[in-house]
Formats: sequence, C-alpha cells, structure tokens
Amino acid sequence: ALRGEVSRWEGQARQRERRLAEVERELLQSHAQRAELQTECKPRLPVTVLPSRPSQYVTQTVEVENAQTGRALAEARAQSGALTEQLLVQRQLLRELETQLHESQRSCTQLRTQILVYEGEMERAQGQLEVEMQSLEEEKNRVIEEAFVRAESEMKAVHENLAGVRMNLLTLQPALRTLTCDYNLLKRQVQEFPYMLDKAIVEAKQEICQVINEVSAANQELLRKYKREMNLRKKCHNELVRLKGNIRVFCRVRPVSHEEHVSTESRNMVSFDSDDDAVLYLSNKGKTMTFDLDKVFPPQATQEEVFQEVQSLVTSCIDGFNVCIFAYGQTGSGKTYTMEGAGQNPGINQRALRLLFSEVMEKKPDWDYRITVSMVEIYNETLRNLLGDNPSEKLDIKMNPDGSGQLYVPGLTQITVQCPEDINRVFELGHMNRATACTNLNEHSSRSHALLVITVAGFNSATGNRTQGKLNLVDLAGSERIAKSGAEGSRLREAQCINKSLSALGDVINALRCRHSHVPFRNSRLTYLLQDSLSGDSKTLMMVQVSPLVSNMSESVCSLKFAQRVRSVELGSASAFKRVENSSTSSSPTHDSVEVSSSVVLRCKEILNPHTLTATHTHGAPCV
Ligand code: ADP
Ligand code: MG
Repeated sequence: ALRGEVSRWEGQARQRERRLAEVERELLQSHAQRAELQTECKPRLPVTVLPSRPSQYVTQTVEVENAQTGRALAEARAQSGALTEQLLVQRQLLRELETQLHESQRSCTQLRTQILVYEGEMERAQGQLEVEMQSLEEEKNRVIEEAFVRAESEMKAVHENLAGVRMNLLTLQPALRTLTCDYNLLKRQVQEFPYMLDKAIVEAKQEICQVINEVSAANQELLRKYKREMNLRKKCHNELVRLKGNIRVFCRVRPVSHEEHVSTESRNMVSFDSDDDAVLYLSNKGKTMTFDLDKVFPPQATQEEVFQEVQSLVTSCIDGFNVCIFAYGQTGSGKTYTMEGAGQNPGINQRALRLLFSEVMEKKPDWDYRITVSMVEIYNETLRNLLGDNPSEKLDIKMNPDGSGQLYVPGLTQITVQCPEDINRVFELGHMNRATACTNLNEHSSRSHALLVITVAGFNSATGNRTQGKLNLVDLAGSERIAKSGAEGSRLREAQCINKSLSALGDVINALRCRHSHVPFRNSRLTYLLQDSLSGDSKTLMMVQVSPLVSNMSESVCSLKFAQRVRSVELGSASAFKRVENSSTSSSPTHDSVEVSSSVVLRCKEILNPHTLTATHTHGAPCV
C-alpha cells in the first residue's frame, strides 16, 4: 500500500513537473514574442529606454507620424499590456506551482525514508522467515525420516503376517474342498428331503390316526366311567350334605385360669380322646359322659387353630352364602374370647374380616367387592344400633318394601370397610356404644346378644355376575339358668328374654333340620333378624363354649347336651330317632312341657329345645 501511495505521489510530482515545464515554455514564448514586437517597433519608434531600470512601462503621449503607425503602436501597447498581465498571472501560477513542487518533493522524501524503514523491516522479517523456514525444513526432514523408519518396520510386520495368512490359506484350501463336498452332499439330501418328509408325514399321519382312534375309544370308555363316578360322587356328596347338614357343632373348652387354679374347685372334669378330635368326656362323681360333636377344641387350642376350622365357612360368604356363627355357653365359658378375642389375640370377628379382605383382594380385578359392617345388640328383645349416633335408640325389623321378601332394619348403620384399619375403628365404636348404654358392661354383655353382621357384595364386570353373602357373628347371651330365688324384677325379665331367644334359636334350627313347612323365625328378635341367614342354603356353626370347672359342671352338661342334640337332629329320621332314644336313656332329659310323641319331628323339637320356656326352666330347675 505504501509503495502504491509513493508511486501515486511520484506520478503527481511528475505531472506537476510537466505542467511547470509547459508554463516555462509558454513564458519563454511570450518573452520571445515581446522581444519580437520590440524589435519590430524599435526602428519605427524611438523609445526612451531607461538604462538601469528594468521593465518599467511609461505611458507617454507620443506624436505619431502617421495614423497607421499610431494604430499599430496602440495595438502593440494593448498587446503589451495584456501580455504583461498574462506574465503576472503566469508568474503567480509559477510561484504556486513551485511551492506545490517543493511540498511534493518534501512529502516524496518523507515517503522515501518511510519506504526505506519499511524495506529494512521487511528485510528483517524475511531474514526471520528464512530462519524459521530453515528450522521447519529440518523438522520436516526429521519427521519424514522417522515415519519412514516406522513404516519400514510396519511393513516388515505386515509382510510376516501376509506370509502367515498365505500359509493358513494353503492349509484351508483342503478344508474348503471337504466342506464343499459336504455341502454338495447336504444339498442333495435337502433336495431329497421333501420327498422323504412327505413320506414320513403320511406314515406319521396314519400312525396318529390309529393312535387317535385308540385313544378316543379309551376316552369314551373313561368318559363313561368318569360320568358314572361323578354321578356316584354327586350322590355321595348329596348324601354327605344330607347327613352333615348345614349345621356344624364345635365345642371349645376354656383353660382354667390362674386364680381358679389356686382355688379348691380347680379339679378338672373334662378329658379328650387323643385319637378322635370330635369326642369329649365329662366325668363327675365317678360317672363319665361321652359327647360326640363335629370338632372339640381343648383348652390349649389357640385362636389361630380355632379360626382355621371356621375359615372355609367365612370365605363361603364371598361366594354368596349366608353364614351364621354362634358362640353359645354359660357366662364365663369363653364366648367373647372366641368371638372377639383378648388384646393382641383377636378372635373370629377380626380374623374373619381380615381374611375376607385378603380373599377379596386376590379376586381383583375380575371381581369388585364391597364389604359393609353393622353391629347390633339384642337386649330384652329390643334391637340397638351399636354403630349409630344414638345407641339407645330402638330399632325395628321390617319387610323390605321392594317386594323381595327380604327383611331389613330401618335406621341400622352400615359402615363400608376398606382396609384392616377400618375394622379396628368399627370395633372400637361398637364397644364404646355398647359400654355407654349400660352401667356394667360385663354383666350387661352376658345378658344380651351381640351381633356383628358383615355383608360382602361382589360384582364381576366381565360377566356382569353379582353375589351377596352375609356373615353373622353372634356372641350369644349367657345360657345359664337363673336360680329360682334370684329371679325377680328386671333380672327375671332378662332371664325370660334370654330363654325366649335361645329357645327360639333351638326351635328354628330344629324346624330347619326337620324341614318343617313352618319355621318359627318370628318367635324372637334374634331369629327374626337372622331369618335369611338361617334358611335356604345358609350355613350355621354353633360353637359351644364349656368351662372345665367342677362348679360349672351342671351348666357344662346342659350346654353339651344342647350341642349334641343339635347335631343329632341332623341325621336322617331313622338314625335321629335312634340316637334320640339312646340319648334319652343315657342322660334322660326332662322337659315337662314337651309331649313325648312317636313323631320324629316332635322329638327333634324336644331335643333341640333345652330352653323351651317352661316353668321348670325359667324357675331354675335343672334340665338334666
Ligand atoms: P363369656 O363371654 O362366655 O362370658 P369370656 O370370653 O368373657 O366368657 O371368658 C371368661 C374369661 O376366660 C376371660 O377372662 C377370658 O379371657 C378367659 N378365657 C376364655 N376362653 C379362653 C381361652 N381359650 N384361653 C384363655 N383365656 C380364655
Ligand atoms: Mg361375654
């Protein structure tokens, strides 16, 4: 760029020099013209020239000789004036150009020095560049040499590899040849395979057909046998159901407590059969009585063991069955312990609800179940809602207005339980309400029936099926008979109510077992409330609680007789009759009010009814 600038300035300087030369030339020309004109004028015109004074023009009036010369003189003078002016202008111009030239020369010299400086720098830079180029060149040569050495060694390795590969190739060639042979062989075989396969298939088909024919013949035979067996099994099952009935009777003997143990009357009068868990012996005053039931739980039986025996009943309500589990027995025999449990040892109530929860969860998502709970107390033949806001309010049992023929209790609280924690809350509420309605809970609870009613309603969204089952867990009032002298006023009324309801329960079970056309459900609130859970396909379990103490001997015998008789009635009419006869002779029940009749039905009723409201019973005379 600097060089360009310098050459531009030089160009301008040269132009100006040229212009200056032109101007000088013009000046010289004009001087020459003037000289010419002067020489022309000199001979004709005497001009006074001042020797030492340079060009001084004096205007003088000169007498012209003739008019022509005068005109020429005037013209020359005018020309001279113009030329003088021009000369002045040119001089001025010349001065300006000279100054410009000087300036141009000065800047030219400046630029030249700058150029010299730059050239010096350029030379220095070039020197450096050359040095660097030199070192780079050396580096390049060194690298090339190294790469060359490396490449040589690699090349050597590659050559060696190549030699190895060549060797391998030589050995592979025979293998390839054998493989090719094998391949060709296989190819031939594959080509032949479809024919072989077809042949084999045809043969196999024939064999299979033959085997199928044989199997189907065997199947037919098996099917025939299976159907026959199924019919037989059904018959046996029906027979079993007929024999066992839907009523089971279990007995649970409670352990002797520590306090009882230290007292004098701790002598144990109950014993068990190690080979038969359905038999119980009662020994008193040298006599031994044998009781045959469905299952007997000894004192050491745990809550878990007891529940295991009843859990199939509990779960059957998921399938839509109505189930009743009663705890029957005198006060202090362990009814509440069995049903409700104590502290960390829950009874059937809690275990049943927990089991229902887990079973219902397992059936998800096909089935959607809703579990609702209500708690009712029956005291003196009145119903009380234990989960409601007002537990002292009396409830009534009515026919459902929907025409289904089902009973319902208007105003009865039903709580939907969704998790095991809800169960605890429901039980707490029930307990609290039961306790607030009376002064002495223990006394009161032994004089009233406590019912926990669990309803399990299921819906199968895939099939649209619906089921509804009800599980009634009943802690019955104490079955002990009130002593004649003690039964007065409210106590007598309580005793009468209890007797009435327990007798009614016996009557209903009896009528159901004997398939009476009329079942007296309406004879007590208890049976009326449980009507739909006792009839039809319903299942009933009577858990008879027994105290092992000698002091409770007579009540224990009474309870066990009730149990045994409930069970005996389930047998066919002939055997029932026979057992009744046997039983009568062995333990001779004396129900004054019951007519002795040859009719089995009447006998059943008699046997099932130790609580039949008679003068004997209500006034405390022993029934055994
Ligand atoms: P009920 O309800 O028939 O009046 P309880 O259930 O209240 O009788 O039992 C009376 C006492 O005996 C309670 O203290 C109870 O804890 C105890 N008991 C009853 N059965 C058993 C048992 N199987 N194991 C331990 N204790 C029991
Ligand atoms: Mg109790």
